[in-house]
Amino acid sequence: MTLSLGELFKQKAFINGEWINAYSGKSTVITNPATTDVIGHVPLMGVEETRTAIEAADKAYRQWSKTTAKYKATVLRQWYDLIVENTAELATILTLEQGKPLNEAKGEITYAASFIEWYAEEAKRMNGEMIPSHKTDARILVSRQPVGVVAAITPWNFPAAMITRKCAPAFAAGCAVVLKPAPDTPFTALAFAALAQQAGIPDGLFNVVTGDAVKIGAELTSNKKIRKISFTGSTAVGKLLMAQAATTVKKVSLELGGNAPFIIFDDADIERAIDGIMIAKFRNAGQTCVCANRIYVHKAIYEQFIERLYQQVSLLKVGNGLDAGVTIGPLINRAAVEKVERHIHDAMLKGASLVLGSQQVSSDCFIQPTIIRDVRDDMLVAIEETFGPLAAIFSFSDDQEVIARANNTDSGLAAYIYTQSLSRAFTVSEALEYGMVGVNEGLISTELAPFGGVKESGLGREGAHQGLEEYTEMKYTLMGGI
Ligand code: ADP
Repeated sequence: MTLSLGELFKQKAFINGEWINAYSGKSTVITNPATTDVIGHVPLMGVEETRTAIEAADKAYRQWSKTTAKYKATVLRQWYDLIVENTAELATILTLEQGKPLNEAKGEITYAASFIEWYAEEAKRMNGEMIPSHKTDARILVSRQPVGVVAAITPWNFPAAMITRKCAPAFAAGCAVVLKPAPDTPFTALAFAALAQQAGIPDGLFNVVTGDAVKIGAELTSNKKIRKISFTGSTAVGKLLMAQAATTVKKVSLELGGNAPFIIFDDADIERAIDGIMIAKFRNAGQTCVCANRIYVHKAIYEQFIERLYQQVSLLKVGNGLDAGVTIGPLINRAAVEKVERHIHDAMLKGASLVLGSQQVSSDCFIQPTIIRDVRDDMLVAIEETFGPLAAIFSFSDDQEVIARANNTDSGLAAYIYTQSLSRAFTVSEALEYGMVGVNEGLISTELAPFGGVKESGLGREGAHQGLEEYTEMKYTLMGGI
């Protein structure tokens, strides 16, 4: 069943199966980053509404957790089907509030739906264990139980996928969710809630609270009824939430910032590496946590690689994501543009050269795809995550050197290597201190694999069967007197 854009575009929060305004009646305005036009308003909620949502979630969890896996799977599958049927409308809402080209938005809706499909299936495999006992008249059982009510806090760069990547395993495990979507992109989350309701997700199981991040976050992390917090966003906010969650010893999953190295060895298939970098660097205008941030190219192929990259990046078309042919949308806001400009400026001052792009300061949210070369490890662009369409090219001479440079960061999310040598593919990927490595692949995200980082890039994994375990607690039962 397809819903009209009007039925999916909700300007109220969703608590206990009802569409409601903030208790204060206040709302915030949401604008389109491509045009600065007002798209709509969402309630400015705080502590009280969050508490109501948690109470509703707690009640719903107690019922839902008792249902069979088959029942959960059926409801999740209905949600999946509805999302797939409404892909066009959902993608339009996503592009309007986030900016990415419509085709990419459609791709994100498909990717977001894939988590629901996967966890609908995986709900049936929350298996336990029976361990040989230490006593003849006893048996040791280990089972998995849902963790309880989950708080999910999500970012703006993937307004759909970051929600389903948390909610689908949570529901499959038997948990309820209180979601606080990113302030810039609440409408995709609310549209997903409208479809969840349609699919038969019970009232209170999925709540979307919009508004004041600090107040909502404080309640979510201090309320004893929340047993787990799952956050995707900046490292700074992740650290804060982890500290806040410590007061009530909640389980914590964090997917934080990256600073991905993209290493091209002299034996690489250069065309394949170019294809990879176009995705790993320029997808979503460079605004993904797994985006290539430092492109290390072996000195023997340096000039050749830059020449080919120049040709491909010149083909990108910047504009409103709703316009045909556009491949690079606006960045999310002016602060994002200013960060990219700061990185370009700093690198140029310290001796890098501009290959493509402009040093002119932009006055809106658009920025031309840019390539800079002869970048060094002491430049800002090497130290911070750029989160924009800036390709920074470094050169290197040998394997040990580039491994050490790639690992010289507090982040450890994704890394990419391009080589034709099997031995190098293994030894380098094993030596990289990252949670994920793409070997001759620039797109590593899939619902089938455990996504996550090491070091300050986070805790826990999303996707795969490991992603379901994150929403469960182990219970050991000793069955005696047998
Ligand atoms: P970015 O800088 O990319 O916007 P953030 O980490 O600031 O990343 O935002 C990610 C999510 O965290 C958003 O939903 C945002 O509203 C939320 N957030 C930011 N600050 C806090 C906070 N103090 N408490 C709870 N949530 C927060």
